[in-house]
Amino acid sequence: MYGPGDVRVEDREAPEIVESTDAVIRVSAACVCGSDLWPYRGVEDLPWPAPMGHEYAGLVEEVGADVQTIKPGQFVVGSFWATDNSCEICRAGYQSACVNRVPMGALGAQADLLRVPLADGTLVATPDIPSDDLVPSLLSASDVLGTGWFGAVAAEAGAGKTVAIVGDGAVGLLAVLAAKQLGAERIIAMSRHASRQRLAREYGATDIVDERGDAGVAAIKELTNGLGAHSVVEAVGTQESMNQAIHAARPGGHVGFVGVAHGVSIDGMDLFWSLAHVHGGPAPVRRFLPELIDLVWNRQINPGKVFDLELPLDEAAAAYRAMDQREAIKVLLRP
Ligand SMILES: [Zn+2]
Repeated sequence: MYGPGDVRVEDREAPEIVESTDAVIRVSAACVCGSDLWPYRGVEDLPWPAPMGHEYAGLVEEVGADVQTIKPGQFVVGSFWATDNSCEICRAGYQSACVNRVPMGALGAQADLLRVPLADGTLVATPDIPSDDLVPSLLSASDVLGTGWFGAVAAEAGAGKTVAIVGDGAVGLLAVLAAKQLGAERIIAMSRHASRQRLAREYGATDIVDERGDAGVAAIKELTNGLGAHSVVEAVGTQESMNQAIHAARPGGHVGFVGVAHGVSIDGMDLFWSLAHVHGGPAPVRRFLPELIDLVWNRQINPGKVFDLELPLDEAAAAYRAMDQREAIKVLLRP
């Protein structure tokens, strides 16, 4: 990306093993993230020109001398942070704050080759080479599925719970899927787009609320005997969505926020009186990867359906445009 709205596909130097713990993978599929739209829209500044992309799945081409578990020829999925998966923070399940983390976005996964630092800690291999139809779902585990899943876990979605999801992008839709898998009794998806509502229903939403703001909160209260939801996932990252999430949670309820927050501030009194547990941040996707890959591999979930447009990598600029204009939920890029 050369600046807001300016995406180009060009030849760069092929990545090589730099550290002995690196791997180089041949990317089978990459994609554009909702968070890539922040710099695209000029809301977030990058050191232009910046390589783009942090979601990836592909075949291991080469590993460094100290890589022990990951082998050339394996199909692997990794998170958007490269992490050692062994430090104290990683072992507590917060790999996205690993003391040795490296942001994959800076390396640029929207490419045909990608260097992955800390390969043993970052990458998880699938049991075998996947059939082509599984690749989108495996790719989704790299970020959107893992992030939606963390949102649902942070919101303590589970048996007997009513879960509300603010945001109908790929992460919000996959938070619906996660809430269902985690056993939620009732799942309220907030969406005003027919195609997204349909997918939300398919993933397990029992109710759809198409109002926003105070009206959206009132609709959720109405569905929950005036109490609010036990669990609310915030999957947008704006002031409006955060307010909506905190106000839609019942006293003692949990808010899991995974939308990258831009210009959001939380009023102290508002939070004080909400009596809500609020937990979120960059999802520790690596914590969930083995379980998510297993669910996809055994075809128990089909998160890849959030990719409603697939383009060759050469057409990355069109992919950004389609997502920016909400013509696509999420675009898969094939190198
Ligand atoms: Zn770590």
